[in-house]
Amino acid sequence: MTARAQIGVTGLAVMGRNLARNFARHGYTVAVHNRSYGKTQSLIEEAGDEGDFVPSESMADFVASLERPRKVVIMVKAGAATDAVIDELLPLLEDGDIVVDAGNAHFPDTIRREEALRERGLHFVGTGVSGGEEGALLGPSIMPGGTRESYESLGPILEAISAKVDGTPCCTYVGPGGAGHFVKMVHNGIEYADMQLIAEAYDLLKRGLGATAAEIGQIFAEWNTGDLESFLIEITADVLQHVDAETGSAFVDIVLDQAEQKGTGRWTVQNGLDLGVPITGIAEATFARALSGGVPQREAARGTLPAHATDLQVTDRAAFIEDVRQALYASKVVAYSQGFDQIAAASAEHGWDVDRGAMARIWRGGCIIRARFLNRITEAYERDQQLPLLLADEYFTDAVGNGLPAWRRVVAQAAAAGIPAPAFSSSLAYYDGVRADRLPAALIQAQRDFFGAHTYRRTDREGTFHTLWSGDR
Ligand code: NAP
Repeated sequence: MTARAQIGVTGLAVMGRNLARNFARHGYTVAVHNRSYGKTQSLIEEAGDEGDFVPSESMADFVASLERPRKVVIMVKAGAATDAVIDELLPLLEDGDIVVDAGNAHFPDTIRREEALRERGLHFVGTGVSGGEEGALLGPSIMPGGTRESYESLGPILEAISAKVDGTPCCTYVGPGGAGHFVKMVHNGIEYADMQLIAEAYDLLKRGLGATAAEIGQIFAEWNTGDLESFLIEITADVLQHVDAETGSAFVDIVLDQAEQKGTGRWTVQNGLDLGVPITGIAEATFARALSGGVPQREAARGTLPAHATDLQVTDRAAFIEDVRQALYASKVVAYSQGFDQIAAASAEHGWDVDRGAMARIWRGGCIIRARFLNRITEAYERDQQLPLLLADEYFTDAVGNGLPAWRRVVAQAAAAGIPAPAFSSSLAYYDGVRADRLPAALIQAQRDFFGAHTYRRTDREGTFHTLWSGDR
């Protein structure tokens, strides 16, 4: 077997297959392998003329077909399958070779694998790949971690196949260890928040205007021409205007209202709790999915729990639509601001030195949360690399501040009408909390000292204090 392939892909289900085709279409000679040979054969049969593929039935032949330092992309089911493939690869690789896990690994697994492979003299690159099946083929957003040294030879190949926005690749070096998969995880968490916010906006418009799904779809299409322009708003407009072929009903109306999840939102929230970063938008979005799927609870509550609500009275339809748009934009900025705080906290904890502006830049294309306003986030972090709060950047302070009256009206109207808007309202509560001069946290500290002698700090003196409360009861 002549070692002539510049990159290899093992795991040729939808993602790996399309990634391999993307490499080949960009002129790379691509070694391809899959546990069961059928998938390798069907790739060659269906796409063999798109470029130069080197198929192998055995892992040994696959590795032997790669030029050194070898670059092997693993694109298999995350978890045990990835470990199984790494174990099979290890005895076949040599010093300096690069193993890339492009699956959706949980970042602690990536940290563990990177350490283990480093000890064997190998580079391990845990990389986020976003954009689904189509992105993998046509240009995904790519978030590679690992050593800088490995990025020198691997980076140009990944940048070549990534999405481009204004000629800039949606791929950059993220940081060492698990940084790449961490950033991908937060990306997915933000995606949860964004989707929930859009769903709440749809619900408010539906109930407030009594509009059909198609009419609301047109409103989203209109919104997609302004600040909210993004992939998710665009597909929402399409989804809402889609008609179910069987029944002739609006498609969204025939879909069961129980949202599922694969787990990246949950990971993001768990990590937010570990780091103590309030990612309330992502958390509310994740819990809203859980609430929707809580069938016994919903059945027990439906028709039983009183509402004591007043119908949403919309007299000026255009003004209401604009209010919802502004509330959506402001809540979205909060969700992103929180996500970037989480990246900063993890980066500090693990010593990753992640450039948040660069992350916003590589999310502008190829991925699910691609959006016009990511440019604004990049600019904010270019103005101040150490920006402690995205909302405190002058652009976002103005943008959110201008929408504040509308945001408050929408949250108040939703509460009065009994319309659940957990992400809208928790984002506003976060905004008011983070900007407050003084928080009732002081009372919590006093309570903690009362029942648990947990001590407190004072506003007027340095030091830690405990009060002898016993005589007060
Ligand atoms: P998948 O359904 O997650 O996994 C199927 C692939 O894994 C097949 O090639 C299968 O080989 C292989 N595999 C499973 N167990 C194995 C084992 N023990 N040893 C060796 N190979 C094993 O495929 P996918 O949807 O293409 O996703 C691949 C990765 O990308 C996953 O980590 C996924 O989370 C991530 N991802 C997916 C998307 C998406 O939109 N689908 C988007 C981003 C990231 P056989 O053919 O032999 O069974």
